[in-house]
Amino acid sequence: MPTQNRQVRLGARPVGLPTPQDWQHTTEDVPEPGDGQFLVRTEYVSLDPAMRGWMNDARSYIRPVRIGEIMRAGALGRVIASNHDGFAVGDHVTGTFGVQEYAVSDGLGVIRADPALAPLPTYLGVLGLTGLTAYFGLLDVGKPREGDTVVVSGAAGAVGSVVGQIAKHVGARVIGIAGGPEKCGLLTEEFGFDAAIDYRSDDVRAALREHAPDGVDVYFDNVGGDILDHVLARLRLGARVVLCGAISQYNATERPSGPANYLSLLVNRASMTGMLVFDYEERYPEGVSQLAEWLAAGVVTAREHVVDGTIDEFPEVLLKLFAGENTGKLLLRIADR
Ligand code: NAP
Repeated sequence: MPTQNRQVRLGARPVGLPTPQDWQHTTEDVPEPGDGQFLVRTEYVSLDPAMRGWMNDARSYIRPVRIGEIMRAGALGRVIASNHDGFAVGDHVTGTFGVQEYAVSDGLGVIRADPALAPLPTYLGVLGLTGLTAYFGLLDVGKPREGDTVVVSGAAGAVGSVVGQIAKHVGARVIGIAGGPEKCGLLTEEFGFDAAIDYRSDDVRAALREHAPDGVDVYFDNVGGDILDHVLARLRLGARVVLCGAISQYNATERPSGPANYLSLLVNRASMTGMLVFDYEERYPEGVSQLAEWLAAGVVTAREHVVDGTIDEFPEVLLKLFAGENTGKLLLRIADR
C-alpha cells in the first residue's frame, strides 16, 4: 500500500497563461477512508479549458479554487480500499477527485465506469461531461433540423468533434472550424464533416461564405472572439447560437471587445443562449445511454489524446489546450508507482 500522495495545488491567481509559479506541488500521507468512504487511486486526470476560469477570483457558475487548495479536476481511478457499501475494491469510478494521486470519496457525484463496455478514457470523453456537453448543447439548445447548416468551432477538440458528429447524424450539413491542416483533414476524413475551415490560415469570413452560401442555422461556439463575430455575420433567419465556451478569451489580460456583428441576432430574429452541462444533471443517464448507443453503432467516434506522465506534469499538460496541441479529449494518464 502506497503511503505518499502527490498533489497539485493552486499557488497564485494567474495573469494570462498560467506559469509554473502559479502552482504548488505538495506531498501528504495517503488518506484513510472513514466509515462510508472509499479510497481512489487516480489513473486519468481530465484537462478542461474551464479550469482556467476556476483559477480566477471571479463570480461564476462555480466558486473559484482557493489559493492553496488542490486543483479541481474530474478524474478516473480505481477503488483501492473501501468502507462504502456501494463501491468495492477494484471498481473503476469517475468523479471530481482533484489533481492528486489518491482521493477519499463518500460517493457523492461518483459514477462507475465499466472497462468491459468502453475503454476507460472514454468515460471522461464521449461518455463523460464532454459528450454530455455536446449532446445537450447541440440538441437542446441548438435544435438542429435535417438540412440545417451547422457550424462548430474548436471542432477537432473534445466537445467540438462530438457536436459535429451528432449534427451529421441528425442530417445537418456540418462545417468545422479548427486550427491547422491536420485537424481540418481529420474533420472531413475521420469525423465525416462536410467542410473544414482552418482559422489559422484561411480567411474565415470568405470560407464561411463559400461553404455556407445560404447562411448558418446553428452555430456551436467553443471559442468566442473573432470567429464568433465572423459567424454572427452569416446567420440565417431564426438561427440559434449555442454559447458553450470562449477559449480564445480565457487567458486574455484585457477586457475583450464585444462582438461587432451582434445586430445580426436582431436582423435574423436569432438567439444566442449560454449552456452549462451541469444544468442537465438529472438527464445525464439519458445522454450517456444515447451516446453509448451511438458509439457502439459507429455514429460517433471517440477520440482521446492521452499524455503519459506524473501528477506533477499537470500544469504543463494543461497548457496544451491553449496551444491547440490536443486533438479530441485531453487526458493525463498517471502511471502506477
Ligand atoms: P478542446 O476543444 O478539446 O481543447 C481546446 C481547443 O481549443 C484546442 O485544442 C484548440 O484547438 C482550441 N483553441 C485554443 N485556443 C484557441 C484560440 N485562441 N482560438 C480558437 N481556438 C482555440 O476542449 P473542450 O474540453 O472540448 O472544450 C471546448 C470548449 O467547450 C471550451 O470553450 C470549454 O470551456 C467549453 N465547455 C463548456 C462546457 C459547458 O458546460 N458550457 C462544458 C465543457 C466544455 P485548435 O487547434 O483548433 O485551435
